[in-house]
Amino acid sequence: MVDIIIKNGFVIDPLNNVKGELMDVGIRNEKIVDPSEVRDPGSIVIDAGGRLVLAGGIDIHSHIAGPKVNIGRLMRPEDHYLTNIPSKLPFRRAMTGRTVPNVFAIGYKYALMGYTLVAEPACTPLKMRHAHDELNAIPIIDKMVFVLVDSNWLALDLMSEKQKDMLKTYLAWLLYSTKAYALKLVDPGSDAAWMMGRPSLDLNDQVPGYNLTPRDIIQLTGEANEALNLPHSIHVHCNRLGFPGNYITTLNTMKLGKDFALRNRNSIHITHVQFTGYGGDSWATLESGGEAIANELNVNPYVTLDLGQVTFGEATTMTADAPFEFVLYHLTRWKWASADVENETASGIVPYRYRKRSYVNTVQWAIGLEVLLLSKDLWRVFITTDHPNAGVFTDYPKIYAWIMSRRYREETLKEVNQSALRRCVLPSIDRELTLYELAIITRSAPAKLLGLEKEKGHLGIGASADIAIYDIDPRAVDLSRDYERILKTFSRAWCVIKGGEIVVKDGEIVQTIYGRTYSVDPYTAIPDDLRREFEVYLKDRFRQYYTVSLNNFIIRGHEIKKLNEIRLKSWK
Ligand SMILES: [Zn+2]
Repeated sequence: MVDIIIKNGFVIDPLNNVKGELMDVGIRNEKIVDPSEVRDPGSIVIDAGGRLVLAGGIDIHSHIAGPKVNIGRLMRPEDHYLTNIPSKLPFRRAMTGRTVPNVFAIGYKYALMGYTLVAEPACTPLKMRHAHDELNAIPIIDKMVFVLVDSNWLALDLMSEKQKDMLKTYLAWLLYSTKAYALKLVDPGSDAAWMMGRPSLDLNDQVPGYNLTPRDIIQLTGEANEALNLPHSIHVHCNRLGFPGNYITTLNTMKLGKDFALRNRNSIHITHVQFTGYGGDSWATLESGGEAIANELNVNPYVTLDLGQVTFGEATTMTADAPFEFVLYHLTRWKWASADVENETASGIVPYRYRKRSYVNTVQWAIGLEVLLLSKDLWRVFITTDHPNAGVFTDYPKIYAWIMSRRYREETLKEVNQSALRRCVLPSIDRELTLYELAIITRSAPAKLLGLEKEKGHLGIGASADIAIYDIDPRAVDLSRDYERILKTFSRAWCVIKGGEIVVKDGEIVQTIYGRTYSVDPYTAIPDDLRREFEVYLKDRFRQYYTVSLNNFIIRGHEIKKLNEIRLKSWK
C-alpha cells in the first residue's frame, strides 16, 4: 500500500478539537500518521488546495442488508425500473434501485457522499447469515449489524423467570454467535403479542404468555447491556411507533435509561424518534412532540437519539414492528409483505410516498428538524432517515442544508402543508449549524456512540485512514445563504480515502475494495461455570424451540469477509 499525504486541507476534526485549520494529513498502512513520516518519493500527494477535509462519515442506522431489505427489492420491481447504471469494470460494478438499491449501489453511493462506516440496525438471529452475506457483498464501507432481541422466546423466558445472569450470558452468546455488534429492541414485546394475533403494546401492558411488560424488557436488556460493557447502548425503537400521541411513551422510555445506567455515559439510544414523536390523539389532530422530546434530551444525559428524518418523496418502510406495518398497509392500500421468523420476530414491508402537501407528512418532517435544532448537546443527536423508511440515505445533503441554512428551511416551509405548520414550532427556530457542528453529528459523535472513537470519526494519529475531502473552501463561501452549495458539495465528495486507499476521485468511484465487519464477543469474558450451566440450558431449550440445529445456527468467523471482532474483557 502506497503512502499518501494530503496537503493544504482545511481540516475540521472535533474529537481532536481542530475547528478549521490548514493542515497536512499523512497516511500509511490504513492509518493516519504524522505527515513528517511520509517522505518516500513514491508517495501519492493530494493537494487539497484549501478544500474541506473531514473524517469519513458514519451512519448509525440504515437498513442496508438482511431479509427485509431483500423482500423490499423483490416486491418493488418499479423501484429498480430504469435505474440501472452499467458497470465500469474493473473500477465499479453495476448499480440499480432507488429506495432499496442493490448491494453495490449501497457501498458506492455511501462512499460517494464521503461515508465509510454504516450500521445495519436490525436483523433477527436466525436470518443473520443472510445479512452477513449481503454485508460481505457491499463494497468500500465498513459495516456492522445489530441483533433483534425484543420478542425472542429464549430471552423472554429468561426475563420472565428473572434469571438475570443467564440472560446476560444468553445475550453475550447471541452477539458472539451471530457476529453482531449491538442489541436492538423494536416495539418491545409487540411481536410476541402479534404472533398471537394481538395489537402492539404500550410500555406497561402485559406481554401475552409472559410475566413481563415492555418496560421490563427494556430494563432487563439495558441492565445486561451495561453489565456486559458493550460498546454501544441498547438501541430502542419505542413502543407505539407510528400512532398519534406516542411522544408520551417515548418520553417515558427515555427516562428509563437512568435506572440501568452503570457507566458514566449514555445507556439508551432512541432510534428514528420522528416516528415516535407525535402529539394529538388522531391523524386529524396530529401535532409535533419534537420540542418536548428535545427538552427531555437536554436534561437527561443517559439518552442519545437519531432523527428518522422525513425528506419527502418515495420510501420503502421496513421494520420488525409488524403490527405497525399492518396499520400502515390499511392506510396506504397498495402493497404489503409480512414475515415471521420462528421464535424470534415478525416484520413488515410497505412502500410509501411522503408528500409536501400532506398534513401528516409535514408534521413528520418538522418533528425531526425540531428535535435536532432544539438540542443543546449535539454529541447526543444523530442524523438518520432510518433509510429507506423516512427517506433514502442519499437525501442526507438535503438534511444538512435544512439544518445549516434557515433560508433553505424557509423555501421548504413555503411548499409544505400550511395548516400543519400551526402545530409545529419549526417556523420559529432561527438556529443554523456550522460545519464544525455538522462534523460532530456525522463523524465524531457517531464514532463515540459506537465506542469506536479511538479509531473512527477523527483524523488524529493512529486513526483509521477513512477520509472525505469536499470540493469547498469553507473560508470562501457563506453556506447559510448558499444552500445549493451544501446540496452539491455533500452529494459527491471530491476525494474519499478508505482504509488508506483512494476510492473516490473527482466525484467518481475509482476502485472497488471491501471494508471490515465489526462485531463484539462478550461471551469469552463470562465465567466458565456460568457458561457451562448456560450451555446445558441452551441445548435443551434450543432443541425444544427451533427447527434448525444449534450447530447450523452459529456463524463462524470465516463466513465473514473481513471480520473485526472486538473481544470484551469485563463482566459485572
Ligand atoms: Zn430502522
